[in-house]
Amino acid sequence: MANNASKHLDTRLQHAGTAAFDPTTGAAPVALPAMRTSTVRFQNLAALERAQAGKARGERAVTYGRVGMDTHAALEEMFCELEGAERAYLASSGLGAITLAFFSVLKSKDHVLVADCAYGPVRYLDKTVLSRMDIETTYCRATVAELEARLQPNTRMLYVESPGSLLFEMLDIPALAEFAHKHGLILATDNTWGSGYIYRPLDLGADISVVAGTKYVGGHSDLMLGAVMAKDAALIKRINDTHYAMGYSISADDAWLAIRGMRTLPLRMRQTAANAMEICRFLAKRPETVRIYHPAWPDDAGHALWRRDCAGSNGMLSVELRLDQPAARRFVDSLALFGIGFSWGGFESLVQLVDPASIQCHGYWQPSSHAVIRFHIGLESPDDLIADLTQAFEKAA
Ligand SMILES: *Cc1c(COP(=O)(O)O)cnc(C)c1O
Repeated sequence: MANNASKHLDTRLQHAGTAAFDPTTGAAPVALPAMRTSTVRFQNLAALERAQAGKARGERAVTYGRVGMDTHAALEEMFCELEGAERAYLASSGLGAITLAFFSVLKSKDHVLVADCAYGPVRYLDKTVLSRMDIETTYCRATVAELEARLQPNTRMLYVESPGSLLFEMLDIPALAEFAHKHGLILATDNTWGSGYIYRPLDLGADISVVAGTKYVGGHSDLMLGAVMAKDAALIKRINDTHYAMGYSISADDAWLAIRGMRTLPLRMRQTAANAMEICRFLAKRPETVRIYHPAWPDDAGHALWRRDCAGSNGMLSVELRLDQPAARRFVDSLALFGIGFSWGGFESLVQLVDPASIQCHGYWQPSSHAVIRFHIGLESPDDLIADLTQAFEKAA
C-alpha cells in the first residue's frame, strides 16, 4: 500500500509532505528542511522554459521564490489531505486567507451574503476595503430562509463560518451548499474550527474552505498562517491567479513550523476536545451556568448537526454565566492558568470576556444581561483547570 492511500487521515498526515530520496545516496531526511530561497536558478534555458510552460498551464511550477519551494509545496499537500482539496494556497495569516478568498471570487458591484456569526474582523475588512471597492455585503443568520430573503441579482458569494465564532453556532453546510448552487453562488467557509481534521466542508458541498493555520494547525502559538483550499478547476484558476497577482507569500520557516504542527494535530485536537468535555461537565454543575456553547455538548443547540457532520471536537467553548459584568471581570482576573487573550488552538488555555456588542449582531444569540466567557481549553490537566475555575468562581461571588 502506498503510504498516502490509507483511509485514515492520521496515517496520511504522517506520510504526506516528506522529502524525496536523493537519487545518488538513496537517503532522505525524515523531516523536510525549511527551504529558504528568494529565487530559483535553472540548469539551462530549456529547463526554465519547461517551468514557465507548466506555470502557464496552472501547475505548481516554481520560477521564483515568492511561490515557495519544497517546504511550501509539502504544506500545501498536507492542507489538501486535511480538507480533501485539489489545491491549497498559503497566506501570511488567517485573515490574509480570507481576503484571498474574497478577492478571488468578487469584483466591483458584486454582492456577498455573510453569516452574522463569522469571525469579527471580516466586518472590518468590509468596512475598510470591500466597501471602497464597491462590493456590497449583507449579514444575516445563515439559514436558507434568512439568506433567500436577502438574495440580490448581483449576489455572487455566500461566506460563512461553521461553527461560528464566539458561540459556535453549527451551520447546515450541505443545505447552504444546495441553496448557494441553486442560485449560482460560490459557498466559501471559514473552517478554522475544524481545520480539516474534524470537519471537512469541501466534502459537504462548500466550494472554498479557508483555514487560519495560526490556530490548531500550527498548534504551538508561535506562528501566523492561513490557507485557502478548493476542488473545482475553474475556481482554482481564479484563486491561483489572484494569489500570484496579489503577492501573497509566506516564509519557508513558517511553512516548516506548520508542517511540524500538523504531524501532531490529531493528538492535540483529541486531547483538547477531551479536556473541554471535562470542563463542560464541571460547568454544567455550577449554579452560575446558564448555557454552554460547545457543539459536542449534548445540550448544545447544534449538537445534532455536529453529530451528523463532524468527526470530532476541539478545546473551544463558551459559557453564559449568571454574573454581572463586574463579577465576570473578577472571575476572569482571578484565573491563574488561563491566559487572558485572543486566539486559540495552541497548547495553552486562554480566556476571553466576550464583549456583549460583538455577539449582539449574531441572530443565534438570545439577548440577556449574562456574561459570556470564551475559553480555549489547552493541554493542562483538567483537574488543575477545574481547581482554578473553582477558586475564580469563589472570588467572583
Ligand atoms: C483567528 C481566526 C482567523 C484569523 O486568523 P489570523 O491568522 O489570526 O489572521 C480567522 N477565522 C477564525 C475563525 C479565527 O478564529
